[in-house]
Amino acid sequence: MAEETIFSKIIRREIPADIVYQDELVTAFSDISPQAPTHVLIIPNVLIPTINDVTAEHEPALGRMITVASQIAAERGIADDGYRLIINCNQHGGQEVFHIHMHLVGGKPLGRMLAQQ
Ligand code: AMP
Repeated sequence: MAEETIFSKIIRREIPADIVYQDELVTAFSDISPQAPTHVLIIPNVLIPTINDVTAEHEPALGRMITVASQIAAERGIADDGYRLIINCNQHGGQEVFHIHMHLVGGKPLGRMLAQQ
C-alpha cells in the first residue's frame, strides 16, 4: 500500500485548501506556492503515487483531470492565450508529493518548456 500524502487530507477536507473543483474522481485546488497567476493542482481522488503506477483502471480519473483542467482554464479566462499542464515524475522530474498531480499553470507567458541548464 502506498503511503498517503497531505493531498489525501485535502481531498477529505481534513486540512484547509482552496478547493476550486471536486467530483467523484478528481479534486482541484490552488497551489500553495503559485508559480504564475493561475496555478492549480488537479489530482485523482484515489492515491496513485507516480505516473509509473498508472494502470488502465485509472483512465477515467486521468481523463477527467484533463477535462477539469480545460474547464478551469476557460473559467479563469486563460484558455485562448494558453497555459501549461505539467505532471512531474520521481526525482529527475522534480516530483515532491507522491500523489499524482497535474499542474495547471498560466496567466502569463511561460517561456520555453524546460529551464536552460
Ligand atoms: P511537485 O514538485 O510536482 O511534486 O509539486 C508539488 C506541488 O505541491 C508544489 O507546487 C507545492 O507548492 C504544492 N503543495 C505542497 N503542499 C501543498 C498544500 N498543502 N496545498 C497546496 N499545494 C501544495
